[in-house]
Amino acid sequence: MNWIGQQMAWIMVSLAISLVLTYFLGWYGIIPAIGIFLFISYYMRKRAMARMGMGGGGGFGGMLGGGGGGGVNYVCIACGHRFKGGACPRCGSKMRRVDF
Ligand SMILES: [Zn+2]
Repeated sequence: MNWIGQQMAWIMVSLAISLVLTYFLGWYGIIPAIGIFLFISYYMRKRAMARMGMGGGGGFGGMLGGGGGGGVNYVCIACGHRFKGGACPRCGSKMRRVDF
């Protein structure tokens, strides 16, 4: 279960809620719908930040290839291999995320 998939699922849920609200309330339903959408995206971002270790070297910082990591384990996004350090030893990909 990756968090991108989870986020997509949440976006789908909030879209569905928006559609239902606009269906029942007409165009006025778009106001609470936008509120719910903003709340969910804010909540998801907060959750994702917490999962990434709150501004450490991980997550997107790690994906952008910022040098070698310390004692942090990474999971290769390309092949799923777990490793320490800069690039995946199995496939050489620098696309990685922090493993908890
Ligand atoms: Zn790999």
